Amino acid sequence: MSSASGFAGEQDDGNSLPCRTTSFYRALASSEDPMRDPIAAQFVPRAQEHIREEHETEDPLADRRFLVTERLIHRYPDRVLLLTTDNCAVFCRHCFRRHFTGGQQGAPTPRELDKVLAYIAENPMVQEILLSGGDPLTLSDSQLATILDGVRAARPDIIVRICSRIPVVNPSRITTATARLLAGPESDAQLAHTWFVTHANHPLEVSRSFTAAVQLLMRSGVPVLNQAVLLRGVNDHIDTLEELFRALYRAGVKPYYLLQTDLAAGTSHFRVPISQGIAIMQELRRRLSGPAVPVYALDLPGGGGKVPIESSLLRVEPSGYVFRGPDGLEYSYPR
Ligand SMILES: *Cc1c(COP(=O)(O)O)cnc(C)c1O
Ligand code: SF4
Repeated sequence: MSSASGFAGEQDDGNSLPCRTTSFYRALASSEDPMRDPIAAQFVPRAQEHIREEHETEDPLADRRFLVTERLIHRYPDRVLLLTTDNCAVFCRHCFRRHFTGGQQGAPTPRELDKVLAYIAENPMVQEILLSGGDPLTLSDSQLATILDGVRAARPDIIVRICSRIPVVNPSRITTATARLLAGPESDAQLAHTWFVTHANHPLEVSRSFTAAVQLLMRSGVPVLNQAVLLRGVNDHIDTLEELFRALYRAGVKPYYLLQTDLAAGTSHFRVPISQGIAIMQELRRRLSGPAVPVYALDLPGGGGKVPIESSLLRVEPSGYVFRGPDGLEYSYPR
């Protein structure tokens, strides 16, 4: 595992994340000027992170309101999200879960894990558990095995979805042994599938090593999807996104979401207007084959949940875009 390097100990105010990258990810950048390089923009802090706009908050998706244990978010009836660790190999400057990431908590304590396992055991409507964070693959294989064995013992039928940026930022972390561990015991046909969702935002991130890592996962039987975030100065250009989605599709990775940035404090410099996002999507559908096109999605401010932007947009008002949430209520995202 390549170690975190550079910027060590450089700490920001409470509104920001520590600075951290990997030597692998840093080498993808051709300059460390975040104004000029799409990779540097994602790991080098900028002064703009101290700007807090009117609608921005620490917890834009109201994660805290949906906590059912210290580590478990239950927002949708059939899915829960485990805050596996608050650690990441790279702290993305656009991270929306910055109220949780970048602390010192690490893996769940045995007591915290027990509560999670009891919750999923007692709630059969939960059919899927997302291992997110933070980045779950910053844990060791034995720490991951403790969590996965516990989850599969509590609920052998549960689908596991691993959400990790490791294939992008530290691909050699994914060994054959790790891929097998994530996939689960081969012999057990009753065991639900494991899915993997990675997070590449720029075609440079779909490196040869990225492809090798995701192919190890796929060969172990774990399908890989990608969530990208639409980011000003990184990928807010039709040709860049076309190249990204072509590269992912070629590597066997299904582009799942293209996410509008959430209203996390200090991220306004990354925000792309929704009207521009919609125009980009229309052109992408003209250029790309069907499976290579992601859904342009927004996590509704205030905990409304994720919606596909193009089919949930009701109207545009002077103050913002108005969406129909999954609960039938209207939610607004500022212009
Ligand atoms: C994003 C998210 C999910 C998963 O949503 P999908 O639309 O299924 O990808 C589940 N729980 C929480 C809390 C989330 O933020
Ligand atoms: S890897 Fe994910 S959780 Fe960690 S900083 Fe990046 S976006 Fe946030």
